[in-house]
Amino acid sequence: MSNNLLPKRKGILFVLSSPSGAGKSTVYQALKKTEQFAFSISCTTRPPRTGETDGIDYHFLSEKDFAEKVAAGDFLEHAKVHRHRYGTLATPVIETLRSGRDMLMDIDTAGADSIRNHPSQEIREALADIFLLPPSLEELERRLLSRGTESPEDLATRLKNAEEETARWQRYRYVVPNRSVEENIAAIRAIFFAERCIATRYPSNSFNHLIQGK
Ligand code: 5GP
Repeated sequence: MSNNLLPKRKGILFVLSSPSGAGKSTVYQALKKTEQFAFSISCTTRPPRTGETDGIDYHFLSEKDFAEKVAAGDFLEHAKVHRHRYGTLATPVIETLRSGRDMLMDIDTAGADSIRNHPSQEIREALADIFLLPPSLEELERRLLSRGTESPEDLATRLKNAEEETARWQRYRYVVPNRSVEENIAAIRAIFFAERCIATRYPSNSFNHLIQGK
């Protein structure tokens, strides 16, 4: 949908969670190419994987730098995922939403919990959270093994986390069953479309020009 057809509103904070290996990265990369979003770049203490660039894929931080940002209150949310720390910087998110742009972020279920329960009403109201279910756990294990990017220890942690994360699907507003990549993308795009049509997201004078006598 062209945003030009609708009056200005506050940005929507789309959160997409899914266990690793469920195809979330593929979906995320595809959405990145076509959707008009600001994408959040998280901070992490995890070492970069081959092909990942600092400042593009993540801000790769030392434990000390990460802890300093936590202490300074720089994070909108932060969590420990698979033995490493991950966090979303608050300022870019708040600035983006206030400017009327929508944001998409890929965070774990603990991070989504923090945003759902965030003290700021502005943040809570901006949230539209989506859980992409994994395929069967056997398929998940097969995918993670064939990816070959994790140590056996990390693989076991990721599988255990996948089960625990999937058990939290009911906390989300949307749950998307895992089908083909194309179907997953189509389902998520339909959610974007619907969220952008929610009447309460628009200021009350938004459609005065369409109402007789106004
Ligand atoms: P990966 O190490 O594979 O890039 O990401 C591992 C997990 O960390 C993913 O499930 C992803 O959703 C989560 N993650 C990435 N960035 C953040 C963040 O800023 N906050 C939280 N809570 N989780 C994140």
